[in-house]
Amino acid sequence: MDNLAFLSLGSNLDDRLSYLREAVELLRQHDKIEVTNVSSLYETEPVGYTDQGKFLNLAVKLHTALSAEELLKVCQDIEQQLGRKRIIRWGPRTIDLDILLYNQDNIESDDLSVPHPRMHERAFVIIPLLEIEPHIKLPSGEENLQDVLARIPDKEGVRLWKRKNGEDAFAHLGN
Ligand code: ADP
Ligand code: MG
Repeated sequence: MDNLAFLSLGSNLDDRLSYLREAVELLRQHDKIEVTNVSSLYETEPVGYTDQGKFLNLAVKLHTALSAEELLKVCQDIEQQLGRKRIIRWGPRTIDLDILLYNQDNIESDDLSVPHPRMHERAFVIIPLLEIEPHIKLPSGEENLQDVLARIPDKEGVRLWKRKNGEDAFAHLGN
């Protein structure tokens, strides 16, 4: 489990908490993934396509023996398993799993960009991430995330929805 990765998870359809709980559970059950931390849950106004329900978002820290491409495949399998339907880009979805960081790698392939190219514009990604990893290291050349966050205008659209319990990294998911 030599590789360190951070994911962003979001849901805005039906029972959002259940989708997030099940997605984290499926990550935890994977024998090449060890989930070591999960952020609080944040409720977020939709950005981009705004005629849709509010999102619940969280960030996950994990160690894995998988390559970044293999981890992406696992994320996409979980999206499929939880019934995600791709109808509108950036539109409503039962569950979305994005890879934010994979070690200190810069990856640019047809189906994978890491660090995630839009994370620097998205308070709903950065706020949960900084909660679990306040001094997060980014590949060299990337700006400090605290500074990036300070510049984002729409932070008010991100509200703490369920605070994580310090004793147990997963209790706030209601497992
Ligand atoms: P979004 O997450 O931007 O709302 P999707 O979840 O529909 O959009 O993802 C679209 C494509 O983004 C996927 O087919 C995937 O191959 C690609 N992709 C590129 N980089 C990443 C990444 N870091 N994490 C997850 N998907 C990524
Ligand atoms: Mg995605």
